[in-house]
Amino acid sequence: MKIGFTTSFPVEIAFAAGHTPLDLNNIFVTQNAKKLVEKAEFDGYPRNVCSWIKGMYSVILEAEIDAVVGVVEGDCSNTHSLTSTLIDKGIKVISFSFPHAKNREKLEDEIFKLETYFKVKHTAVLKVKKRLDEIRKKLIYLDELTYLQNKVSGLENHFWLVNSSDFNGNPDDFEKRLDDFLAKAEKRTPLKSDFRFGFLGVPPIISDLYDFLSENKINVVFNEIQRQFSMPFLAKSLTDQYLQYTYPYSIFDRLEDIQQEIKARKLDAVISYSQAFCHRQIDNILIKKYVDVPLLTIEGDQPGQLDARTKLRIESFLDMLRY
Ligand code: SF4
Repeated sequence: MKIGFTTSFPVEIAFAAGHTPLDLNNIFVTQNAKKLVEKAEFDGYPRNVCSWIKGMYSVILEAEIDAVVGVVEGDCSNTHSLTSTLIDKGIKVISFSFPHAKNREKLEDEIFKLETYFKVKHTAVLKVKKRLDEIRKKLIYLDELTYLQNKVSGLENHFWLVNSSDFNGNPDDFEKRLDDFLAKAEKRTPLKSDFRFGFLGVPPIISDLYDFLSENKINVVFNEIQRQFSMPFLAKSLTDQYLQYTYPYSIFDRLEDIQQEIKARKLDAVISYSQAFCHRQIDNILIKKYVDVPLLTIEGDQPGQLDARTKLRIESFLDMLRY
C-alpha cells in the first residue's frame, strides 16, 4: 500500500510492514503546486490557511494514496482539520502523536500502537532501522561534504536531506542515486562563496530561493529541519531516534541544535524562514532572541518564485553584512 504522511513519523514501521511510505509535502512541492492549492480552495479551504496543508489535501485526493498517517501532535494544529476533511472523503487516516512533553513512555506507546496497526514486530522494525541507518550515515557524509569541504551546494544538501524523510519510497534506489552523487561530488573543486549561511525553519515553498542565494555568493551550509528529517543521530533504539529529533518538540530543543550547529559550521548569518499563516511564526520571536549571529526573517506564502520585495530584503541584508 502507498501510505502518505503529513510529516516525518517512524517510517521504519511502514517499510517493515512492506508498504511504501510517501511524504505528501515532497509530492506537493514537486508537482503543479499552485494548481493543487487552488483545488483545495475550490473545495472550501480558506485563503488564510497555510499552502502546505492545502497542497497535501489535494495531493491525497489526486494521487493513488491508500491511507494517510496524520501526525496530530508535534507538527501542525491544522492537521486535525485536514484529517477530518479526508475522513469525510472516505480516506483511511491513521493518527500518530509526538508527545509535546517529550515523554519516553508515551512515545513508546505511540510506536507500539503503530506497529500493532501495521501488524509488524518490533524486531522487524529495528532491522529496517539498521538498513536505513546505513543510508543515513551516507547523508551525514553528504552534509560534511557541504559544510566541511564546500563540495555540495545548499540546494543539493536541501534536496537530499528533505527527500530522506521517505527515501522517495524506495531506500535501495535512493541509496544507489546517492552513491552516484557522492562519487561525483567528492571529485569537485570546492565551491567559492562570500558567506556561509544557515537556513532555519520548515523547508521553503519558494522554488528559486537557493538559486538566488547562490547567485549572491551565499552558500547554505546548514539546512536545519531538512537535516532533522534525515535523522542524523544513529541512535540505538527507535524511541531514542525520535526523541532526539527536534522538530516535533519545543522551540528550545530546536534552539539547542541550532546554536550548536552555528558554531560547528562557522556560520556568518542565518535565514529564518516561516510560512504564512503558520503557528511556528511565533517561535521566530525566540529564534531572533537567542540566535547570536545576524538573522534575516523571510516568509513564503504561495508556491512559486521569490518576489521582488524578498529579493530586495536579502540584498539589503547582504549589504549590511559586507559593510
Ligand atoms: S508550515 Fe506550519 S502551518 Fe504549514 S503545514 Fe507546516 S506546521 Fe502546518
